[in-house]
Amino acid sequence: MRVLVLGGTAEARALAERLHPDVEVISSLAGRVPNPALPVGQVRIGGFGGAEPMRRWLVDNRVDAVVDATHPFAAAMTERAARVCADSGLPHLVLARPPWDSSNFIAVGSTAEAAEVIEHHRYSRVFLTSGRSTVRAFAHSSAWFLIRVVIAPVADALPMRHSLLLSRGPYRYHDELALMRDHRIHVLVTKNSGGEYTRAKLDAAAALYIPVVMVNRPPLPSGVRTVSTVDEAVTWVVNGQL
Ligand code: NAP
Repeated sequence: MRVLVLGGTAEARALAERLHPDVEVISSLAGRVPNPALPVGQVRIGGFGGAEPMRRWLVDNRVDAVVDATHPFAAAMTERAARVCADSGLPHLVLARPPWDSSNFIAVGSTAEAAEVIEHHRYSRVFLTSGRSTVRAFAHSSAWFLIRVVIAPVADALPMRHSLLLSRGPYRYHDELALMRDHRIHVLVTKNSGGEYTRAKLDAAAALYIPVVMVNRPPLPSGVRTVSTVDEAVTWVVNGQL
């Protein structure tokens, strides 16, 4: 039994750890960040180069099943993996951690909408944690931004007034509290990643009465089998069903 785990998340690493060595796991990383946390077992790094090369890769490497444990916002990969597996008749599962409850937040459908909310409410000091690829949506804002990202965005994507904070989670509650207090943050902009790794900022924002603008997740492709925990994904792989 050989399983491809599409990774780049803590859940993907946990899944590889749980399956290895009884099940042969190949974990796949996009290769975006330097020195990524590596899962146990075999790892391949880098994009496949499109749907057809990915389909060929799955055949050449005699993969029996695919678990897509990519980040909930890695929508292109999730859509593609679902399509390639369906076309190839390969068992396919999406492991998507539960989203955060956004009922106390200003939920928006996109980062463009989040930028509109910032302008509309005239928030002037923004803590932006929605990811490198989203920064450009705020490029023309007159607010000041504390931008926390793993890798610096290209210069022309950045708003005029900002401070860059290059770092990688997990983050702790007291550090998040101090960071937002020290920078006199008025609003937090983030995306609904879910999970524990990065949720401390939400608790810190609540403690400081800082409003949160939360970008909703992109929808999953229709008809895909989905689980929300590593345990359920292990069961699916080991038993062939839930
Ligand atoms: P994406 O937009 O869905 O995918 C863009 C391209 O990256 C894909 O077409 C594919 O390239 C390559 N790719 C993505 N995930 C891959 C994987 N696991 N293995 C091999 N190639 C992969 O993805 P993204 O949002 O840029 O995220 C890239 C990676 O970072 C994902 O693995 C994800 O789990 C992780 N990550 C993303 C976020 C986020 O907020 N988006 C946060 C934390 C971690 P080809 O077309 O060349 O095959």
